[in-house]
Amino acid sequence: MTPDGPDPFDKNAPDSITAAQRDVLVAWLRDAGDRLALRDWRIRVSTCEAERDAIASSYIQDNGDEIWVAVERGFFERPERHRRHSLVHELLHPHFYRVTRLADKLIERELGTRTEAVIMASIGQVEEQSIDRLAWAVSEWLPEVPEA
Ligand SMILES: [Zn+2]
Repeated sequence: MTPDGPDPFDKNAPDSITAAQRDVLVAWLRDAGDRLALRDWRIRVSTCEAERDAIASSYIQDNGDEIWVAVERGFFERPERHRRHSLVHELLHPHFYRVTRLADKLIERELGTRTEAVIMASIGQVEEQSIDRLAWAVSEWLPEVPEA
């Protein structure tokens, strides 16, 4: 296993958080990840900015159980419950990932590119909604995300 793969969020853009803020997120995500059955996953935090218009976003490595999390600029100015919800949302993605990947594989080259795209977009949308609802419920049971 390579110890440090490239940061998937690195687009040569300025950092959104400092190294000290990343350390805070790494510690919180590691603890929360252990509580959310991701003990066997590597959890990495990027200092680069999350995807446009997202409080946080994640990237799951295809091979190896590894998730990269990135947050928006100004993440630590958000209300605490929003910070916690967005991080929990990202930590729930790995649990749904294999189902979505399986669906992707099953329809691959069976239905035509256009139909596949429509089906995957629908699955993605429902997945996002389910994860988001679960994240509100689950985040109530997790420790607060510290200031940084
Ligand atoms: Zn999501």
